[in-house]
Order: sequence, then structure tokens, then C-alpha cells
Amino acid sequence: MSWRRGEVWLDADMLWFREAVAAPAFPGIGPRAIPSLAPPPGLVASRVRRAAWERRRHLRRARTTAVALSPAVVLALAALRSGSGPEASGMLDDPPSLTFRVGTGLPVAEGTTIGPPPGRETAASRRRESAAKAKAAPTIGWHHSISIGLPWSGSLADGTQLPLEGPDWVTWNPVTDSVPNARKRLYGTQHTIRTILSVAAAYRAAHPDAPRIVVGDISREGGGPMTDEHVSHQNGLDADIYFPRLDHRLEAPVAHDQIDRRLSQDLVDRFVAAGAQMIFVGYGTGLQGPSGVVIPYAGHDYHLHVRFPPPGG
Ligand SMILES: [Zn+2]
Repeated sequence: MSWRRGEVWLDADMLWFREAVAAPAFPGIGPRAIPSLAPPPGLVASRVRRAAWERRRHLRRARTTAVALSPAVVLALAALRSGSGPEASGMLDDPPSLTFRVGTGLPVAEGTTIGPPPGRETAASRRRESAAKAKAAPTIGWHHSISIGLPWSGSLADGTQLPLEGPDWVTWNPVTDSVPNARKRLYGTQHTIRTILSVAAAYRAAHPDAPRIVVGDISREGGGPMTDEHVSHQNGLDADIYFPRLDHRLEAPVAHDQIDRRLSQDLVDRFVAAGAQMIFVGYGTGLQGPSGVVIPYAGHDYHLHVRFPPPGG
């Protein structure tokens, strides 16, 4: 059994069709006596509403999910929650196609009501829940970006923007020294963005207590000079990642003794393993890696600068 976006799946028996039904299809409630003479439509609607309420109460007790489309239409989604159909799993790996996700990771049409019928409190909690989930899994507009020229003399066509924050990262603006960064400073190639996200996810999975990573500048939309802060960062292949702090604050460190060196070295190692072409780290950081890849460089005491190889390079 499966369900797709935009598809409405109704119970088999619909009482408002005035059928003489001995056992209306309200699973879990059992047969209900229905007069053989069709009552007025208003009474039918009332009974359907009451039955729907009872059914929802029962489903909640049974820890099952129901979606209320209207008082008279109930759509059972228990199978969807436990669904393992190819349609469900296939959509999980397609971020651009989703607006937001529910806890099961399955896509749900926008505007769909989850759980109890609408009410002031539940409507507010639904909004908070939706906002939290959108934040946890932000939509990314993936583009087939083209990196042009050199990191210090180049541009970026059709860049992909890293969302301001997500489950494993926040962004930091080095000009204002605050979270988040400006969107226009967070464009990279698709490969750059995917690698940052995958390294961040693996790092957080390996260190569940570690704070989210703090991502600084990548490139401008369209690339080109970022003369307020950088010589490079021009073609979507450079990204700054601030070293994790011992106090877990989501901001750039400003002193060496604030840096969690163990977690910082782990991040360096992960970017090396992910195919970084070069990683610049400050002389005083003590961070290490393969010669020619991890390179001590002035001005990188509080962040690492990872450079990814050009496509095909
Ligand atoms: Zn940099």
C-alpha cells in the first residue's frame, strides 16, 4: 500500500452517498447500527462527524496517525508511517522535490493536517513543528554549477546556495561577526555544498555531543572578488570552517585556548578524506595532515580554509 503527494485515498464506504450500510468502514470501532431509511443529510453528516471523532480518538490511543481533511473524510496513514514501498524510500534522496519532511522522513503535502483536528493550540504547535522541521531539513536549490577560472581570479555560474543553517551547521558572517552569514556569501559548486553537508553530517554522527559546524564564507552568487575579506573564494571551490569551540558556542573562536583541537583535527581529517585539494590552517593550531594538502598559512588561526579541486581536476 502506498500514498503519493496529491493523492486522496478515501475509506471504502462513504455514508453521505445514502447507502444502507450495516457496518460502515470505521476500522477499530466495529459495526454500527444504521437505520435502513436514509435520514436527512444533516443527520448523516452529524453521525459521520461523530464517527470520525471516535475513530480519531481510537487511532490516537493506538499510536497511529490520521490526517483530517474535513470532518467527514478520514484518511488513514498508518500504512504510510510504516511504509517501506519504493515510492517512499525513493523520494528521500531527492531534496529539491520536497518542501518539508515529517519525523518519519516521508514527504507530506503542504497544508496537510497531522494529528488532532485544527484548534488554536494545535494550530500553533503545528506551525512550530513545521518551522522546526523546515529548519532541520532545509530545502536546497541544487544547480549544476560551473566553476570558472581560478580561486583568486574566477567566477561561478549557477551556484548552489548553502542554507543559513541546518541540522549539522550554522553560518557565520565574518564581516558582522554574527550568525547567520549573508545568503549572498554562501554560494558554491554543487560538489562543494554536498561535501560540506556530508562531512558535517558524518562528523556530527561520530560526535553526537559536538556542536554544529560553523561555516563562514564560500563565494558570492556569481563568484568574483570578495575583497572585503578574501583574495580567493571567487569560483565556488573555497569554504571557511571555523574551529569548534570547547564551550560549544556557535561562533568563531577568538583565542587559541577556546579551540577544541581534537574535534578540529577530526574535521581536518574528514575534509582530507573527502578529497580536499588543500586545507589551510594557522601555524599555531598544531593541526596536521598530509604534506601538500594540509598547509600552515598565516591568518587561519581560528578557521580552516578548505579548497576543493576543480571539477575533473
Ligand atoms: Zn578562506
